[in-house]
Amino acid sequence: MNRPCASPIALATLAEYWLGELDAAREAELDEHLLGCGQCSAALAELAELAGGIRALVSAGAVRAVVTDAFLERLAAAGLKVREYRVPPGGSVNCTVAPDDDLLVSRLEAPLAGLEQVDVVLLDVPGKAYERLRDVPFDAKAGAVVVAERIDIIRAAPAGRGRMQLFAVSGEAERLLGEYTFNHAPWPGHG
Ligand SMILES: [Zn+2]
Repeated sequence: MNRPCASPIALATLAEYWLGELDAAREAELDEHLLGCGQCSAALAELAELAGGIRALVSAGAVRAVVTDAFLERLAAAGLKVREYRVPPGGSVNCTVAPDDDLLVSRLEAPLAGLEQVDVVLLDVPGKAYERLRDVPFDAKAGAVVVAERIDIIRAAPAGRGRMQLFAVSGEAERLLGEYTFNHAPWPGHG
């Protein structure tokens, strides 16, 4: 993690990444790079601090994707309050959002070693898929995919159940790695 970066990401590109202006393929490339590169993760965090809008961007849901632990550490170091729920395969969790939380993160645990591609599927309450995040970055050693939620939407949501699934994908074949259930309740007094 402390090796100097062989091909540092340009600041302008980091800004576009941070603002969500890159196309999905390029964004996925950068996700991968930032996962393994402390130097560029640090540069991204500095940029966000300089911009001064880090908290506003996060609150507005500009961060809504699969993120890395390095990225989360930088956000925490920048003073953001990160609420995290860790869910094992097949598990469920009772979750909420506090008024002063800046970021809501779900850590979906699964055995990831040796996998070439992992997709995240978000399910609505009746179990219908409404979004699929393809080929997300993951750290096989950590054994989890970390999903940052749209905290603005979830903060405003009534009590209800959400689900996510992780799939191992290889060519045309896919295999369910785990299903994760979130029993959401609004923060008391904020429902
Ligand atoms: Zn780098």
